[in-house]
Amino acid sequence: MRRALLLNSDYSPLHFISDMEAVIHFYKGTAEVVYGLDGRPAVWKDEFFRSPSTSIEVPATMRLLHRVTKKWKQPRFRKKVLFNRDGWKCQYCGVKLGWHNVEVEHVLPSSRGGKTTWFNCVTACHGCNKRKANKTPEEAGMPLLRKPAAPSALHFWDAMKSDHWHDSWESYIPKEA
Ligand SMILES: [Zn+2]
Repeated sequence: MRRALLLNSDYSPLHFISDMEAVIHFYKGTAEVVYGLDGRPAVWKDEFFRSPSTSIEVPATMRLLHRVTKKWKQPRFRKKVLFNRDGWKCQYCGVKLGWHNVEVEHVLPSSRGGKTTWFNCVTACHGCNKRKANKTPEEAGMPLLRKPAAPSALHFWDAMKSDHWHDSWESYIPKEA
């Protein structure tokens, strides 16, 4: 399924929507397809949404016509989103990880009351996880590369890793989160 990046009316990125939601925006006139750097509408090439009466090109980037003040609700903890947030890099040594060797590391160890939350969990490699054991980063002398924070909407779909990357997204979101 192709997705569309939804922008606020001021062109700030909000989140990704499904192709169906993009088409609904199109028909309701609540969002418009933006133009890419090449001056052409940001749509998926040769992908159409067809109904009995019509067929439209599937949008890749849309902009809301009315600004929304969206408060991003802190979402439920999910491993995959945590790894996306951290760019699949160990937050202690910076090594790049994959599903076969990635681990969730509790900054304040769970044995000492550390909770499984966005603010107390980071992506780690097995070596660093083992070395840090039940110490805090200070006690272990292992500073974090980045302070853990709640993920943004963009981390929910790992577009950065996908081969379904649309060039029109480049202007609005960094490819390396
Ligand atoms: Zn590591």
